[in-house]
Amino acid sequence: MATTAPTSDRPHKAAKRYIYAWGDGRAEGNAGMRDLLGGKGAGLAEMTSAGLPTPAGFTITTEACNDYFDNGERLPDGLWEDVLEAVKQVEASTAKGFGDPANPLLVSVRSGAKFSMPGMMDTVLNLGLNDQTVEGLIKLTGNERFGWDAYRRFIQMFGRIVMEVGGDRFEHSLDSTKAAEGAKQDTDLDATALQDLVSDFKAIVKADTGRDFPEDPYEQLNLAIKAVFASWFGKRARDYRKNQSIPDDLGTAVNVVTMVFGNMGDDSGTGVAFTRDPNTGEKVLFGEYLTNAQGEDVVAGIRTAPKISEMQTEMPEVYAEFQRIGQQLETHYRDVQDLEFTIERGRLYMLQTRAAKRTAAAAVRIAADMVEEGTITKEEAIARIEPAHVDQLLRDQFDAAGLAAATRIAKGLNASPGAAVGRAVFSADTAVEWVHRGEQVVLVRIETSPDDFHGMAVAQGILTARGGATSHAAVVARQIGKPCVAGCAELVIDYGSKTARSSDSGVSFKEGDEISLDGATGMVYLGAIPTVSARFEDQPELQKILGWADEIRRMGVWTNADKPEEAAQARGYGAEGIGLCRTEHMFREGERLEIVRDAILVASIATRAKARRAAGETLTADDEEAVDRFDTALGKLEKLQQGDFEGIFKAMDGLPVVVRLLDPPLHEFLPNLEEQLVKVTRAEATGGASEEDKELLATIKSLHEQNPMLGLRGCRLGLLFPDFVKIQTRAILNAQIAVKRAGGNPIAKIMIPLVGHANELKRTKELLEAEAKAVESKAGVEVDYKFGTMIEVPRGALTADEIAVDAAFFSFGTNDLTQMTFGYSRDDAEGGFLLKYIEDEILPANPFQTLDDAVVGLMKVAVDKGRATRPDIELGICGEHGGDPASIHKCEALGLDYVSCSPFRVPVARLAAAQAVLSNAAERDK
Ligand code: ADP
Ligand code: MG
Ligand code: MG
Repeated sequence: MATTAPTSDRPHKAAKRYIYAWGDGRAEGNAGMRDLLGGKGAGLAEMTSAGLPTPAGFTITTEACNDYFDNGERLPDGLWEDVLEAVKQVEASTAKGFGDPANPLLVSVRSGAKFSMPGMMDTVLNLGLNDQTVEGLIKLTGNERFGWDAYRRFIQMFGRIVMEVGGDRFEHSLDSTKAAEGAKQDTDLDATALQDLVSDFKAIVKADTGRDFPEDPYEQLNLAIKAVFASWFGKRARDYRKNQSIPDDLGTAVNVVTMVFGNMGDDSGTGVAFTRDPNTGEKVLFGEYLTNAQGEDVVAGIRTAPKISEMQTEMPEVYAEFQRIGQQLETHYRDVQDLEFTIERGRLYMLQTRAAKRTAAAAVRIAADMVEEGTITKEEAIARIEPAHVDQLLRDQFDAAGLAAATRIAKGLNASPGAAVGRAVFSADTAVEWVHRGEQVVLVRIETSPDDFHGMAVAQGILTARGGATSHAAVVARQIGKPCVAGCAELVIDYGSKTARSSDSGVSFKEGDEISLDGATGMVYLGAIPTVSARFEDQPELQKILGWADEIRRMGVWTNADKPEEAAQARGYGAEGIGLCRTEHMFREGERLEIVRDAILVASIATRAKARRAAGETLTADDEEAVDRFDTALGKLEKLQQGDFEGIFKAMDGLPVVVRLLDPPLHEFLPNLEEQLVKVTRAEATGGASEEDKELLATIKSLHEQNPMLGLRGCRLGLLFPDFVKIQTRAILNAQIAVKRAGGNPIAKIMIPLVGHANELKRTKELLEAEAKAVESKAGVEVDYKFGTMIEVPRGALTADEIAVDAAFFSFGTNDLTQMTFGYSRDDAEGGFLLKYIEDEILPANPFQTLDDAVVGLMKVAVDKGRATRPDIELGICGEHGGDPASIHKCEALGLDYVSCSPFRVPVARLAAAQAVLSNAAERDK
């Protein structure tokens, strides 16, 4: 990691240096030290060094947090003494004294991990206040109301966050005081009322914890620091890290920052702003601010804040300065920043800067704009887009007609775009419960807090009544890619009766009712509105980015498509070929299933009879009939398949099409054994079953296998019933000839599945080549095709050198390869024990989603051995992993020629393949 050497060598009593301070325009840390200082600490240090106004303070490192836990949840020896030294330095810088009643220094204690984490401890403001220092604060500011307000806020926050008193107890007390005083807002309470609240709050703390509220500022600080550390392993934080794959051993830093006050009157205020619009990416300052307020008021959405643009009229000079600082930080970090600031009596202080969370649309637009502006390179733009962003942009939207006809419930803030449909639930736990039993839900809350994260993660969308565009709900929803409508003030939510009602429209809904929300417009509707897929064609910025990705990536991106429509769609998304065209769907649809069943019923008899005839024997009449029936059925299939292949070749004109011969076990085309058994048995009991049904039952029984996954399927089928190979070969090659004659450019590749021994491939090839010759001589033209195989059986991978003798290409069938490497049947595993394995971390991830390294190891053997035999062998992957970004990285490292994935993942794969090139290059540079 790029941890720059500290700028000054701070003396320390602890075994390690745990503290980095800033103030007076100098900082001991910098932006490169995020691992050690967390994002917030590194940002404050960097802003200070850049000459921006920050209140002095210091960071206790993430290392201290880890050592705290290693030390049995005790501060490492010497750390506290070092904290005291750092406090002295801040006192000197601010000319105030911590706990000094005449001139008190107050601080905030803020958690700050490397990655911004909503599960972490909330910030405690105004720490250092007690019955003496509050008087000092009042004297100094000449503002009695301000002093008591700061103090009651501190007890409330410290009580809730550090001493774990239920927050609603303070809220109730506050509400009843407001009611008694006839006050509408917190700001309407006068000094006396606030002073009374302080006593009430202290009494609440005492009653709830059995302890007095700590009056000693040092004890307050000590407890707050430990509470920040402890929150690292709190449930909320752990849940969040698990969901986001953030390691547990990063630890959190603690920032102790001199308080500045946004609540000192109308020339003071506080706000949150983004240097560009995080929803659309538009280049305008975006955010909210409140006059005469402390920071948490905006973040928690306690008062609905006006837009930041209004600050321009209210405080034009400060606004101009803030705009300039925003620009400076954006240029400095070369990315859009999310800024927190406070204005104390007309003076601006920066409290936080970080890379802004953004929607998929904003991410793409900002990256494209910044390349055009010359701020970042195309490579950087590619690296900044998350594959999930691309995925999101191709997600469904509401159908316009459905939208027009829908009943509107309410309108809130368009906090995170996308269309969400689900049943309303009013608690995170209910959300999880309902989703577990297969429902789709929309989580409806008055406002969200980190405690709701587990519910937000499983919901289709999130709806809140309070909070703005920078509220918890909005920020988290954007980050995890969920549609969100926030701050829907007209919505009156009642948790007790599990209902919500709009005070404007009068429309209400209750738990379990279906609602639809449009995070792009902020509209909420009754019922489930149909959705339509997002149009790739209408997203020029995304296309621009993916065009750059195409310039960078080395691997081709192909698609798995079985039908011409799918092929055309994938081509629209940028697919450069079909890596897997499965023939079985063609066998399953409509009338074809009947024909296939007909063929399967006599397949064994007819195949044996044909062999006897070939050996010179004369067939019985029964045998002749079976052969006839078999050939008639296959003849029909051949014709139908040829038509299908022609459609696909046309759709992929000029691009390769890999057709896989019949793969699944034959019983998949027949009715279920039990059902047929019941049918026949019933019929027998009531007068006799039909011959047909009995024949079908006999066939099902004869094809029944103990373990079909490892049974008669793949190339084994074609070797037992050669006619399946022959008709498919004819269908493919005749389709190719027909399309070519019509002026097209079909490129056929025939692929044999499930090969484990070279002889399987050799025999199949002989069969196939003979048939190809027959097609050629009949058509009077030469056919052109490539012959290859899937590598999906471990033995196949291990003997790839022998197999490559007959294969011009390998395509890794990683679904089967994973099944057989682990010895899992996917259906049984995913439906059963695999979930527990992943939960209990027996496996690090689902190997059917992301390629397992042992499977990659087998692939590597096959790549090396295949190339040893045939240096120009073409290598691709057609398992589902071909669309998974992490797996695509592994394929790049293996040097595959292409990945093939389902059509809708093609754009994601184009991006991921480019990112894989970039990160591989970065690895090499190390
Ligand atoms: P989060 O990690 O939730 O963003 P912060 O530590 O940034 O929490 O604190 C939240 C808000 O509290 C800040 O945006 C700011 O408004 C206020 N705040 C934090 N520290 C101070 C401070 N030293 N002076 C004034 N306000 C502060
Ligand atoms: Mg913050
Ligand atoms: Mg397979």
